Amino acid sequence: MVNGLVKKSRVPAVFKTVLENVFTKPATKSYPHQKPNLSEKFRGQPVFDFSACIGCGLCSRDCPAKAIEMVLTEGKKHPQLNLSKCVFCYQCAETCPKKAIHISCIYELATTDKSSLVMKPNPSSPSDSPSSHG
Ligand code: SF4
Ligand code: SF4
Repeated sequence: MVNGLVKKSRVPAVFKTVLENVFTKPATKSYPHQKPNLSEKFRGQPVFDFSACIGCGLCSRDCPAKAIEMVLTEGKKHPQLNLSKCVFCYQCAETCPKKAIHISCIYELATTDKSSLVMKPNPSSPSDSPSSHG
């Protein structure tokens, strides 16, 4: 206190904050060069295990987004997932009596071609994934 006045700091608070931020690491990541650390509970693309699927259609019936359609493949009905409709709720996995739908960490699903988001069933492949659909 000088003559009843509070002595002001010579460095304004804003400059202190600027200097602190210049010398600290950014809070954001340089995606896609740096991949994010996903939570253990992260819900990515649902993946179907066609070796376990019995084609009952319960996943299609219970999907609230109508994202699963049963289609005839290799003489048997199989679920076909349209990822452009999927809301990643995983009701389908809860419902499946054969535990043939698995949670994955696949999240890089952005595309300019909506038709590539239709995951055609491939019963010859043990499990479904984007790589199996080119
Ligand atoms: S995760 Fe939800 S919205 Fe997506 S296919 Fe399964 S039930 Fe449907
Ligand atoms: S509920 Fe399971 S077993 Fe039935 S069609 Fe869907 S994935 Fe296949």
